[in-house]
Amino acid sequence: MRDQKNRDQKHKDQKFKRTFRQQVCAFCVENVRHIDYKDLATLRRFVSERAKIRPRRSSGVCARHQRILAQAIKQARNMALLPFVVEHYR
Ligand SMILES: [Zn+2]
Repeated sequence: MRDQKNRDQKHKDQKFKRTFRQQVCAFCVENVRHIDYKDLATLRRFVSERAKIRPRRSSGVCARHQRILAQAIKQARNMALLPFVVEHYR
């Protein structure tokens, strides 16, 4: 009975740790101020496989850099460097 309770508690703690893991912004580390829309290698890392901009909670980018990054990705899309959507055939 007590063992069961302890196990549940442990499981909860693990879940808590995973959802609120601290991430360091990749752009802050390099002190980036401007993200180039032509730098596709960087932009691709922050776009999902369906070409959507990944949310901050999954990419770990800070608010300031997420704004700059989103602008760069949208600019790249308009220049046809990145796709707006990835079509899936069923
Ligand atoms: Zn940052």
